Amino acid sequence: MTSKISPHVRVRFAPSPTGYLHVGGARTALYNYLFAKKNKGEFILRIEDTDEARSTEESLRGVVDDLVWLNLLWDEGVDPVTLKDVGSLGPYRQSERQHIYKEYADKLLKDGKAYYCFLTDEELEKQREEAKAAGRSPHVNSPYQDWSLEKALEHLEAGHKGVVRFKTKGLAKDYIFTDLVRGEVKFPSDMVGDFVLLRSDGMPVYNFCCVIDDHLMKITHVFRAEEHLPNTLRQMMIYEAMAWEMPEFGHMALILDEDRQKLSKRKGAVACGQLKEEGYLNSAVLNFIALLGWSHPEGKEIMTVEDMIQAFDISRLNQSGAIFDRVKFKWMNSMHLRALPNMEIWNHIQPFLAREKMELPQDPVWQEKSVALFKNYMETFADAIELYRPLNDKSYVILPEAEETLKWEPTKAVLTAWRDLVKAFPSDYMSEDEFLKLQDEVKNQTGAKGKHLFMPIRVAVIGKPHGAELKILVPLIKKDSLIARAEQALAAT
Ligand code: GLU
Repeated sequence: MTSKISPHVRVRFAPSPTGYLHVGGARTALYNYLFAKKNKGEFILRIEDTDEARSTEESLRGVVDDLVWLNLLWDEGVDPVTLKDVGSLGPYRQSERQHIYKEYADKLLKDGKAYYCFLTDEELEKQREEAKAAGRSPHVNSPYQDWSLEKALEHLEAGHKGVVRFKTKGLAKDYIFTDLVRGEVKFPSDMVGDFVLLRSDGMPVYNFCCVIDDHLMKITHVFRAEEHLPNTLRQMMIYEAMAWEMPEFGHMALILDEDRQKLSKRKGAVACGQLKEEGYLNSAVLNFIALLGWSHPEGKEIMTVEDMIQAFDISRLNQSGAIFDRVKFKWMNSMHLRALPNMEIWNHIQPFLAREKMELPQDPVWQEKSVALFKNYMETFADAIELYRPLNDKSYVILPEAEETLKWEPTKAVLTAWRDLVKAFPSDYMSEDEFLKLQDEVKNQTGAKGKHLFMPIRVAVIGKPHGAELKILVPLIKKDSLIARAEQALAAT
């Protein structure tokens, strides 16, 4: 995909480090990444940290770590470990590019395309109110727009504070561009008034930095969220004033919650860090967010990043809002999870089990076997906690709900037969079939059947009469441990 600027694709992800990386940001990063890879171009990470009050190093660290976790690695930007610049067109942190923005603001000032404006906040507010009362657009009407630069500089010298404003006078025309997602977009000429480029403390604003950086970093295509569409008009005006070619823009539709409202964390995790904590796989997160606004040409649902790169085609980007379906997300995660080798799953669940202080066998053969039996019941790695809990000897307690079962007439005999048959079992672990046979033997010996047979045994294994399937659990519990639990249950009868 070539652009007017260059046939060589260069895209960027430009987070503002003012919070965590959420799924919307991750999707923007992913689409830019896929587009770069598909076109053998470069993916750049630019840090938009000019909002000094809200940008933090901690947030930058978090965003970088999340991108690394997602494996969306960049060719230029900040080093993932040291956060120092990597690449020849840096600095890649806007806070280190102030001198560059100043230089270009000076050029616009000299060319008469921008001006120093000394209107105070009160004056601006008054103008807005008057315009509102008269039914006019609330645009600034600055008496300073026609001052000569010399006069403005003298005014500044004299100690007055002023912002640099972009001059829209004389630009009365429609601004039209072809959006890569939405097709033709037309902005009416009077949509914006003279907007600020540099604040009175010299800090540049987003729209200005964005244009300067996209140009100097030779960005050819910009995929970003729909909420930036109104910014595109201001950016087009700056490109025009600079006589620079614009990159191609694609504005992606919003991600919505199941109730079609803006995605909110109240209904579940939307931060990538939290998804990781909750036991989602990075490959599943990428797969899921890829499909929030794009679809595979053959309707493929489960994909690796390689599959996505192969198939990525911006003509399949969706114009309408995508629904963040959490049920589908879990299902997709379970698909990715089950495709992993068992020991890899074990390595993923291990920290979750360790956090719960579970003491489980160290034997890799046991670990592999447990995963083979449990993985079809896991949607996320965190699900392992409840699956493995009954295997942890320390968690074995007889729960109050077992009381009634323990009082039944045949229970004692069932538990005794169960304990003795387990004791006589020749090896440490029994298979599912061996367990079923043993259970039949308890039935033969005691004459107990149905719930009078199954429920006492369940109490002797998990401490309660209902719950997990014994034929899955028993093969994972060592003989000694089964005996000790049976003794405990017997003691409670
Ligand atoms: N820093 C902006 C944001 O986080 C980037 C906007 C853009 O991609 O131009 O939303």
